[in-house]
Amino acid sequence: MSLLPIIEVPDPLLRAQSAPVESLTDAVARLIADMFETMYEAPGIGLAAVQVAVPRRLLIIDLQDPEEEDGEPVKRPHVFINPEIVEWSDTTKIYNEGCLSIPDQYAEIERPDRVRARWTDEKGKPREGDFDGLMSVCLQHEVDHLNGVLFIDHLSRLKRDMVVRKVVKARRDREKAAIL
Ligand code: ZN
Repeated sequence: MSLLPIIEVPDPLLRAQSAPVESLTDAVARLIADMFETMYEAPGIGLAAVQVAVPRRLLIIDLQDPEEEDGEPVKRPHVFINPEIVEWSDTTKIYNEGCLSIPDQYAEIERPDRVRARWTDEKGKPREGDFDGLMSVCLQHEVDHLNGVLFIDHLSRLKRDMVVRKVVKARRDREKAAIL
């Protein structure tokens, strides 16, 4: 396994439509393993393949709920291949969202509370399920990535541009600091 570089805004690849995963090859299995290692290291709770510069319809989620056991978060990895959200609740909920491709920036985003999704799991089995709470938020956020949509697109144009400028400036400052 290896850590993969995570691309950040304003990388145009983040705006690409990801293509379906055609078959579960060894390369896809390796990508999934590398994505988990990268996500846990970051750390994050969700990661879409396009964020590691592979524009395929594949995403992983692990909420790593810290309340379930003493100290160490419980790992509960979920793999969604070619996921589709097929139903949205009328009720909505607001969560403070962040994104590994938009480091250190957070915003309150309103989304449907519950969703129903269809996907293929890592063994190639077709699955269907209902999600609520943080799992629902995370799944919607990650499926957006597959369609080139970022959580900042839910903000006003002014706020969105400000967030991107902040990320670019922080990255430039980091790069500058490294030369000293
Ligand atoms: Zn994200």
